[in-house]
Amino acid sequence: MAGIVVVFDFDKTIIDCDSDNWVVDGLGATDLFNELLPTMPWNTLMDRMMKELHSQGKTIDDIVEVLKRTPIHPRIIPAIQSAKALGCDLRIVSDANLFFIKTILEHHGLTDSFSEINTNPGFVDEQGRLRIFPFHDFTNSSHGCSLCPPNMCKGLIIERIQASLATEGKKKLIYLGDGSGDYCPSLKLTEGDYVMPRKNFPVWDLICRNPMLIKAKTHEWTDGEEMERILIQIIKTIFDAAQMFSPSSDYKLQTISIVFPRPLSVPH
Ligand SMILES: [Mg+2]
Ligand SMILES: [Zn+2]
Repeated sequence: MAGIVVVFDFDKTIIDCDSDNWVVDGLGATDLFNELLPTMPWNTLMDRMMKELHSQGKTIDDIVEVLKRTPIHPRIIPAIQSAKALGCDLRIVSDANLFFIKTILEHHGLTDSFSEINTNPGFVDEQGRLRIFPFHDFTNSSHGCSLCPPNMCKGLIIERIQASLATEGKKKLIYLGDGSGDYCPSLKLTEGDYVMPRKNFPVWDLICRNPMLIKAKTHEWTDGEEMERILIQIIKTIFDAAQMFSPSSDYKLQTISIVFPRPLSVPH
């Protein structure tokens, strides 16, 4: 309805940490994780770590308990709720996994705020072990993007979203992220879109290195409070511009009567 699609990264954007590290650290498997990291892709390692934790007797409930304690800035939830209330279509594009994301969103009552979650599949198998798979099955074919990890090119996901929106008239995208994986989708945004890179994080560094490559308007943010303020401000700016150019809007008349009240006629 608002003609705005807001796409959020998850780790260090919605939540204030990396959910993979948070779970591994929270269940005391940091050393094994660091030992195995040089030997396999991150996404493959997460599936392996869940196998190790399962064989150590850690249950799904243990994982859920750790996920419920995930740090999140207090202004993030109201920011998401306000954007939703203003009529924006909210989506997630994340290299975490569906189990972690759904558990955290559910815990904060945010499940219904998002129309789409694009992430690595994650589900509990018959043995009660969490399985994590790549979003893009790179054992069969490569996604062909050299900027992105083998299991996920967020730029391809943005292109898919853009293509699906093309039939719905002119919609604007607002993309929020922090990581190097958020650079590829930022490059796909077009004029009229907005990118909100988290200041002093990898995607911000990459954008600052060559700002001319970004067609979208760039608005940096540092924490949840600033994210809320800037996101709502951008949404309202888009609304105001749309209403100003809409020929059949009452808003126009209203603005005129408020901003330019008719002068009182003075009887002679
Ligand atoms: Mg992130
Ligand atoms: Zn890519």
